[in-house]
Amino acid sequence: MRLKLHTQILIGLLLGVVAGVIVGPSIGVIKPVGDAFIKLITMIVVPLVFASILVGVASLGDLAKLGRIGIKTVGYYLATTAIAITIGLALANLIRPGSRLDPAIKERLLADFAGAAEVSIERAAVPPSVVETLLDIIPTNPIGALAEANMLQVIFFALAFGIALTYLDRARTEPVLRFMEAVNEAMIQLVHLVMKIAPLGVFALIAAIVGQYGLGILQTLLVYSLVVVAGLAIHMCLVYPTAVRLFAGMSPIHFFKGVAPAQLVAFSTSSSNATLPVTMECAEENLGVSEEVSAFVLPLGATINMDGTALYQGAATIFIAQVYGLDLTLQQQLLVVLTATLASIGAAGVPGVGMITLALVLKTVGVPLEGIALILGVDRILDMCRTAVNITGDSSCAVVVAASERELAERPPVAPGGQAPVWTGETRS
Ligand code: ASP
Repeated sequence: MRLKLHTQILIGLLLGVVAGVIVGPSIGVIKPVGDAFIKLITMIVVPLVFASILVGVASLGDLAKLGRIGIKTVGYYLATTAIAITIGLALANLIRPGSRLDPAIKERLLADFAGAAEVSIERAAVPPSVVETLLDIIPTNPIGALAEANMLQVIFFALAFGIALTYLDRARTEPVLRFMEAVNEAMIQLVHLVMKIAPLGVFALIAAIVGQYGLGILQTLLVYSLVVVAGLAIHMCLVYPTAVRLFAGMSPIHFFKGVAPAQLVAFSTSSSNATLPVTMECAEENLGVSEEVSAFVLPLGATINMDGTALYQGAATIFIAQVYGLDLTLQQQLLVVLTATLASIGAAGVPGVGMITLALVLKTVGVPLEGIALILGVDRILDMCRTAVNITGDSSCAVVVAASERELAERPPVAPGGQAPVWTGETRS
C-alpha cells in the first residue's frame, strides 16, 4: 500500500533525528539535499502567490467581498496572535523558567553566544516606525518587489492589478486571466512534483540540524524550552480546534490531518514562506478552502501572522527579564503584547526572524538586549516548533474565513472507510 504523503514525511523526519543523533555533525554532508528541497519550494512562492491572487481577485469580481474577507482575516490574525502572546506570558510568569537558571549556565551561555546576539541587537537599534512599515507595503517598482520576493509588496501589487482588471471589459482581460490561470495551475502541479522528494528533503534537513546542534543543548535550557513548547502545544490544541469547530463546523481531527503535510514541512524548514505552496495546497485540496480565499488569506498569513513566534517572544521576554532579576509590570507586559504583535507583522516568515524582532520587544520594555545570547542556542529547534504553529494558525484562518463566506467545500469530516480525504501527494491528472 502506498503511504500517505504526511506519513512518508513523518518517517523522513524521525529517521533524520535518529541519523543526526547517531552520526553527529558529519551528517552535514547531506544537507545540500535538504537545501535543494527548500530552494525548490521557495522557487514556486512568488509566481504562485502572484498568479493565484490575481486570478482570485479577478474571478471574485466583487470588491465588497474582498474587503470583507480582508477585514475578517486581519481581525482573526490579530486576535489569535494576542491570545498566543498571552499564553506565552502567562506560562512564563507561572513557571518562572528564568528564576531557575543556574548562574554558571547563564555565564557560559552569555559568553558563548554574545557575538551571535549582536546581529539581532544591531537590527533593533533603528526600529522602523509603524508609518514606515505600512508605507513599505506599497512597491514603487512591482518588478523589483517580485524579484526580491517582498511578499507584502507582491500581495499588494497582485491585489491592485486584479482589482484593475475587474473594472475592464471581460473580453479584453480574458487573455491575461487565461494566462495567469495557466501559470497558477502549472505552479500547483510543480508543488505536487516537488513534494515527491519532501520525505528525503525533510530527512536531510532534520539530520543536519540534529547532527549540528545535538539534543543536549535543550537540556541546558530545559525549563525554558518546555515552557515554549508547552505554550505552543496549548495554543495549537485549544485555540485552532475551537475556532474551526465553532466557526466552520469542522472536526479538529479532519483539520489536523489535512494540515499535517504543511506542518511537517514548516517544522523541517523553519520557514512559513517556503512552506506557503504546501500550506495553500493542503488548505485547498484537503480542507476544501476555495482558491479565492486561500490565495488571499494564506500568503498574507505567511507574512503577517505568526502566532507561534509571538507566543515565543512573550515567553522569551519574561524569561530574560527573570534571569536579570527584573519583574515586568502588567503594563509592561501589555506593551509586550502590542509590540510583539506589531513586530510579527513587519517580519517575513523566514528562519530565525523571530529572534531579530525579539530584540525590538526587549528594547521597548527595557530588558537587556544581550540576554538574547541566553536563548540563541535553542533558537533553531524552537523556531521549527513555532513555524509549524504559525502555518497552522494561517490555515485555521483560511478555514474560518472560507466557511463564513460559504466558500468551504462540503466534505464529510470522515470519508467512508474511516479515512479523512487527505491529499496523498498524487500529481493531478
Ligand atoms: N521561522 C518563523 C516563520 O517562518 C519565524 C520565526 O519565528 O522566526 O514563520
